[in-house]
Amino acid sequence: MIDRRRAMKLALAGTAALATPAVFAQTDKPRTRVVFLGTKGGPRVGLGPSNPANLVVVNGTPYVIDCGMGVSHQLIAAGIPLESVKYIFISHHHSDHNLEYGNLVYNAWVTGLSTPIHSFGPKGLEAMTQTYWELNKFDIETRIEDEGRPDLRKLLIAKDITEDGVVLQTADVKVTAFRTPHPPIMDNFAYKFETPDGVIVFSSDTAYNPKLAEFAKGADVLVHEALFVPWVDKLVTRVKNGATLKKHLLDSHTTAEDVGRVADAAGVKLLVMSHLVPGDLDVTDEQWLGEAKKTFKGSIVVARDLMELKLPL
Ligand SMILES: [Zn+2]
Ligand SMILES: [Zn+2]
Repeated sequence: MIDRRRAMKLALAGTAALATPAVFAQTDKPRTRVVFLGTKGGPRVGLGPSNPANLVVVNGTPYVIDCGMGVSHQLIAAGIPLESVKYIFISHHHSDHNLEYGNLVYNAWVTGLSTPIHSFGPKGLEAMTQTYWELNKFDIETRIEDEGRPDLRKLLIAKDITEDGVVLQTADVKVTAFRTPHPPIMDNFAYKFETPDGVIVFSSDTAYNPKLAEFAKGADVLVHEALFVPWVDKLVTRVKNGATLKKHLLDSHTTAEDVGRVADAAGVKLLVMSHLVPGDLDVTDEQWLGEAKKTFKGSIVVARDLMELKLPL
């Protein structure tokens, strides 16, 4: 993993810095990290790569994007104290993106959370939050009474996103949501993070969507899901609903070749393929890159768990 990080730094050395938004003060030191916590697309849990989750750290503040199974463990592995989490963004309500949402907040609480967490996601997030409190009512109330902990239910402020636009703006970061189709789910948001050190766009799961290129225009980093078509047949032999699963994969995800098309049209400095499908079969970096390079001539990285980028590039 360290070798991979070194290799990536070398690959990126010498690239010119993109102009940063004027609202941010400039400093010499890089302050922004992007960590790919879980890179395997889909809900299946295994001993290999973790389920989807990403992390952006700006000026020491962590922003978690998606909460697939394993996100708490992966945050700890990335050196992030759980009680320091302040913002969570859910892209859509497939379980590989939200299954550990409540549990991450819970895990932060038992680790010593004392400041609010703000969460954002498509319609249903607020209801899911309330349902989580019901599910864990006994334990939460027992620990408040017995261990003197603050009321967790007052420390999480969930907000449903209903339309495109800015969902968060702080002194450090502006986060914008952009709806992208992921049939049958249409309440599904890509997120753009404008930081003092560059712009990062996360595609969410998405069908091939040329409009994402407009949303990601000129970004430093585009983190895009990717489907490796030659292995789809192999992947679906593992389940009884293979034919239906294959149709879902092809209709609602983006092939690595089309991912390259989006990166090319957007003119991004770096394309990162993450949410890899298949992510737990042995598709090599070279195979992934071979598909995306057909359509994008810029820098491309295949994300692996806990790989890290430092911005500015
Ligand atoms: Zn997914
Ligand atoms: Zn999905």
